[in-house]
Amino acid sequence: MTANLLDFDLEGLAVFCEGLGEKRFRATQLFRWIHQRGANDFDQMSDLAKSLREKLKTTAHIAALPVLSQHMSQDGTIKWLFDVGDGNAVESVFIPEDDRGTLCVSSQAGCAVGCRFCSTGHQGFSRNLSTAEILAQLWFAEHFLRKHLGTDERVISNVVMMGMGEPLQNYSALIPALKAMLDDHGYGLSRRRVTVSTSGVVPMIDRLAQDCPVALAVSLHAPNDALRDVLVPLNRKYPLDELLQACERYLAHAPRDFITFEYCMLDGVNDQPEHARQLIDLVQRHGRQGLRCKFNLIPFNPFPASGLLRSPQPRVQAFAKALLDAGIVTTVRKTRGDDIDAACGQLAGDVRDRTRAQERMATQRHAHEQVIRFTPVTPSKDPSQ
Ligand code: SF4
Repeated sequence: MTANLLDFDLEGLAVFCEGLGEKRFRATQLFRWIHQRGANDFDQMSDLAKSLREKLKTTAHIAALPVLSQHMSQDGTIKWLFDVGDGNAVESVFIPEDDRGTLCVSSQAGCAVGCRFCSTGHQGFSRNLSTAEILAQLWFAEHFLRKHLGTDERVISNVVMMGMGEPLQNYSALIPALKAMLDDHGYGLSRRRVTVSTSGVVPMIDRLAQDCPVALAVSLHAPNDALRDVLVPLNRKYPLDELLQACERYLAHAPRDFITFEYCMLDGVNDQPEHARQLIDLVQRHGRQGLRCKFNLIPFNPFPASGLLRSPQPRVQAFAKALLDAGIVTTVRKTRGDDIDAACGQLAGDVRDRTRAQERMATQRHAHEQVIRFTPVTPSKDPSQ
């Protein structure tokens, strides 16, 4: 079995090259061929010595992931389904905007966290992706898009680790992938433009701050522990106060001076005025003058197994206004790729569930619905509906 060179950051590739008896600088040349020029054939690499190319042919390969399907939305969003073997498939989504091109990348086949409102969570968990499988999504998308658009310029300017999976539960594969994204000889992305999104794996937030501090987004989705325990089960292990303290510590290392909080708006569940008040209190009691943060309110994309509904637009606007009035920067996410199921929380891929999470979610769903229904907040009458 030869090594897939997509599995290495530059340092890892240097070690690999040294193992072949080559100088470290050869790794830089090789890395640039692979990531900047999209080469997957050693014979293309004309500035590498023929002897090295011959060695590479017997010890290494550069393998992308087989594409099972590609869907293009009317708004330009593209979704790919990649085969990762053994009956598993993961999704990546490219979202073009006027001033940037963002790729949403998956880190696991399925996800073990099992958030109530997330289609991936309902699929269960199969396995972690390797560094090569994470990087291959970017490698393929970048070079496909360049060809498709007929350009040699970089197309993807931002990467968000917000596809399938909890990236901080696949830490050892994530870090080399992030390093390759940031490397000037790789994709040369700014730390501010690479975002890791987590449901709140507190110890790993601290490690990320040390090892590779990129922009951090936290899937918050609830303003109190009772509700978050139900919506994001990881909260039972790392409750809100611990999570926000980890965010405070992260800010000392972060490339941006704020943490993004993702908040999926669920009709009658977490979208009431009382919830907005609790959120304001939560962020104001952390940090010296409140935690520096930005809220991103996400319209929920309903799927039948969730038993949840999207909050009506006027309620989302009222919620945003409450946060803004308290001085918290708040945006409402525009949904993209709705027509191809590429919107946030809709990525389901195809997962051979090894954790029986699907079964568990199904049996717990009824209990969850009871808990959600009996949370202490009474849905208020919204006169604008
Ligand atoms: S929201 Fe993220 S952490 Fe939660 S189940 Fe979905 S993929 Fe996993």
